[in-house]
Amino acid sequence: MVVGTGNKRMWASRCEGIGLASEAYKDQPDLLSASEKRSNSMEISKYFAMDAEKIGTGAYKPLSGFMDENEIDSVLAFNHLPNGEAWTMPIFLHAESEQYFKDGDEIFLKYRGETFARMRVESIFVPDVRGIASKLYMTAEESHPGVRQLRSFKGKFLSGKVFLLRRLESLGSDPTPEDVKKYFREQGWKTIAGYQTRNPPHMAHEYIQRIALEIMDGLFINPVVGELKPGDFDENSIMQSYRYLVDNYYPRDHVLIRPLHVAMRYAGPKAAAFFALIRRNYGCTHFLVGRDMAGVGKYYPPYAAHELLSSLDLGINIVPFKEIYYCKKCGTMVSERSCRHGMPEEDALSMSGIRDMLRAGKHPPDTVMRKDIVDILVRDP
Ligand SMILES: [Zn+2]
Repeated sequence: MVVGTGNKRMWASRCEGIGLASEAYKDQPDLLSASEKRSNSMEISKYFAMDAEKIGTGAYKPLSGFMDENEIDSVLAFNHLPNGEAWTMPIFLHAESEQYFKDGDEIFLKYRGETFARMRVESIFVPDVRGIASKLYMTAEESHPGVRQLRSFKGKFLSGKVFLLRRLESLGSDPTPEDVKKYFREQGWKTIAGYQTRNPPHMAHEYIQRIALEIMDGLFINPVVGELKPGDFDENSIMQSYRYLVDNYYPRDHVLIRPLHVAMRYAGPKAAAFFALIRRNYGCTHFLVGRDMAGVGKYYPPYAAHELLSSLDLGINIVPFKEIYYCKKCGTMVSERSCRHGMPEEDALSMSGIRDMLRAGKHPPDTVMRKDIVDILVRDP
């Protein structure tokens, strides 16, 4: 079945030459227990814990903490932080317990009972979650998974700087930006294409990745697996199928595959820009952008992400791709830029269409997905 296949550790154990966590975040138990006794602590959900960790590792640079109201408003209205730097995603912390703190408090953030970060509370505010949802997602419809999720955050938000005390394996143990940049340097890669996905490899995705491999030193495949909506492929399916592709088809020493544990958000163009900024922070020089990146349903025009990313100074080169498909007349993968025949309606098969076929026990055509990749996705756990 598509959901829940295989051994959780299988993909993690096979990545060589790159550390899981930086030395800087080793546990400091004595220090922690002494400080904790004097301080407040707050349990937070995975959505926010992943963000706190990414702030702490520098994956969300220039952010150093959770945003205040002014920063959220600026990002939503102008796609820039108040200091003028491009940033498109509000990164906020919802206080989930009834225990509210006051400005200036130093608190400890816990995930599943484990303290992992310290935060100095700078402001506490009641957000207009409906307003945030409609500006971020460009819709107020509850059928949008991001809108539904945001509206579930009732109560107050806290802003303030975050200091990471330790890495938690339960948050995915992603490499830090420093780990990844060190790996790129050791490999001697000067030009590196970042590839965003939340799906197993489709032949169209493979085509885009091979174009990057033709012209750049390295390819960083960095699937978002932290929090996906019901019905999406799960982390193990995505990572196992990609690792298989990398290990069996791609050249040695030119591809790095590692997961990115953050919430997917499905905010279309604004999420695409957010994902580009993260890959810039991981040391990529280029970012590959296909059709309808980070979209859901029909909420965003298919090339809205191309337009937004091209209009912002993100500090990473954007490489946009038109929709890629198999043309029977050309006998190869093409886009409207490289073929005169046009895309036949009946050949359009989206990832949700592929998921439906797999769930029904049907195999998508070889021109859509490799048979051995399909076998991994349909294999019983
Ligand atoms: Zn053609």
